[in-house]
Amino acid sequence: MKIVLLGAPGAGKGSQAELIKKEYGLAHISTGDAFRSNIARGTDIGKIAKAYVEKGMLVPDEIVIEIVKERLTHDDCKNGFILDGFPRTIPQAIALDKIIKLDCVINIKVDNEIVTNRISGRRACRGCTQIYHISTYSKETCDKCGGKLYIREDDKRETVLNRLEVYSKETAPLIDYYKDKNILFDVDGSTSIAHTFEQVKEVISKLKI
Ligand code: ADP
Ligand code: ZN
Repeated sequence: MKIVLLGAPGAGKGSQAELIKKEYGLAHISTGDAFRSNIARGTDIGKIAKAYVEKGMLVPDEIVIEIVKERLTHDDCKNGFILDGFPRTIPQAIALDKIIKLDCVINIKVDNEIVTNRISGRRACRGCTQIYHISTYSKETCDKCGGKLYIREDDKRETVLNRLEVYSKETAPLIDYYKDKNILFDVDGSTSIAHTFEQVKEVISKLKI
């Protein structure tokens, strides 16, 4: 199964991707996590990506496309994968279409107001990238790995507004792009993670694969 998750920043793509990965045994590919890991390790890609990621701008298409192409050759992708945060532009979607045939694109819909609130309370783990929300988790270390929690540079308020703008300009056009190919399915991401996942499973169960 080859799935793309679409949705604004804070829509819950990462949480749904983790649940899908567990339920269906697919690889979870998050380009955002890939960049953060490269930045933390100070790799060449990290050095280029840092300025873009921290300002909430998109990393240039050529770089992202190369990373994803390479990642898709790994063994864990053989049973299928979930792309979380890729594609984010029409040229990225066209490049992806040239490598593989997607089974479905799940569009997680959430209002901007909810998304901004969610992101402002978001904490990430330095050790394992797990995300927490201050409304439901008050500790300063991660339950999974004991790592320290921090506020992502791009989760600061001004940057969030910028990311939402980039989303509507660059990424939202993908909704029509995939609608035209008849592989787009909407789910409501404004309630709980569990309720959103119920809808996701419903979509996947109806695919003829
Ligand atoms: P969110 O979905 O919450 O905005 P991500 O972790 O997916 O966060 O992405 C963080 C940042 O990484 C983006 O703002 C952007 O700078 C960079 N990035 C991730 N995926 C892509 C992509 N497909 N194309 C360009 N830049 C990307
Ligand atoms: Zn952790």
